[in-house]
Amino acid sequence: MSKKDAQPRRKQPQRTCVGCRTVQDKRNLIRIVRTPAEGVHVDLTGKMHGRGAYLHDQKACWEKGLKGSISKALRVQLTEEDRERLSAYMLELE
Ligand SMILES: [Zn+2]
Repeated sequence: MSKKDAQPRRKQPQRTCVGCRTVQDKRNLIRIVRTPAEGVHVDLTGKMHGRGAYLHDQKACWEKGLKGSISKALRVQLTEEDRERLSAYMLELE
């Protein structure tokens, strides 16, 4: 028997929800991204360029995030527009 046991290592990338601080598989979280020119956006493709932060699709996490941890994670002050945009998305959540 060979010692090389080919264990498939299929680790999912993990990220922390900035609302509740739970570590999760990245695909279970919603990415928000700070774009250089257009402020903070919800990134449903997960592919937009810029500094990203992750949140559950749960209102409670977004509420906490909007109270400060989003801007902390993205190192940016949320503008009123950013807040409106993120709040509008949050209201769609359960
Ligand atoms: Zn969360």
